[in-house]
Amino acid sequence: MGFQIAIDGPAGAGKSTVAKELAKRLAFTYLDTGAMYRTLGLAAELSGCWPETFEDRIRLCDNTDIDVRFLEGNQHIFLNGRDVSGDIRTEHCGRLASDISKYPEVRSRLVTMQQKLASGMNVIMDGRDIGTVVLPDAQMKIFLTADVEERAARRYKELKGKGQEPVFEEILAQVKERDIQDTTRSASPLTRAKDGIVVDSTNLSFNEVIAVILAIYGERAKQ
Ligand code: C5P
Repeated sequence: MGFQIAIDGPAGAGKSTVAKELAKRLAFTYLDTGAMYRTLGLAAELSGCWPETFEDRIRLCDNTDIDVRFLEGNQHIFLNGRDVSGDIRTEHCGRLASDISKYPEVRSRLVTMQQKLASGMNVIMDGRDIGTVVLPDAQMKIFLTADVEERAARRYKELKGKGQEPVFEEILAQVKERDIQDTTRSASPLTRAKDGIVVDSTNLSFNEVIAVILAIYGERAKQ
């Protein structure tokens, strides 16, 4: 079995940036599970009719081919053969992901896929239920969080940096809404694993977060 690192936490806590950097430093494979929910959410929207019933959702899963590939060390995600890695990075797809991810039948399909992808590898996986459901035996579990205002401020800056004209109040409302949906759903709500270590990045720089997590890894790898 490889060494598995689970990173969970709310939207905008910096999980993916942190996980990518850690994967590079440790030469681990990084698996972004949010990308899978985003891709399925996009597939649901593209189907022209939101899957309202259990049967609709099973059909959606059966008819949707989601493929994760690693090209030059980077994760790419394909929807029915098309690389949608860039397309899914919008707030709209984040919302679609949050909507589709509340259904247990959808989650169990994607969880099985995630477990297969992770098996036997040194892997860092980020999401909402990695430490609790996907990799319950992970050797190291981090719950990365930050105050909601700080997370919204980071999103705001990121969008500004991309040349967009975001409105802070709108971003804050979206982040709060996603928090509510992700923590209150009945199927695998976002929650810290019992053995998850909380890293609160509100007052930490990116490099400090990396240093804290690498120190935890150093301890765990010795055991
Ligand atoms: O992490 P990211 O913002 O890409 O995730 C998008 C949405 O997908 C989350 O808000 C959450 O609802 C859902 N998700 C999930 N379980 C995961 C990863 C993401 O429910 N393991």
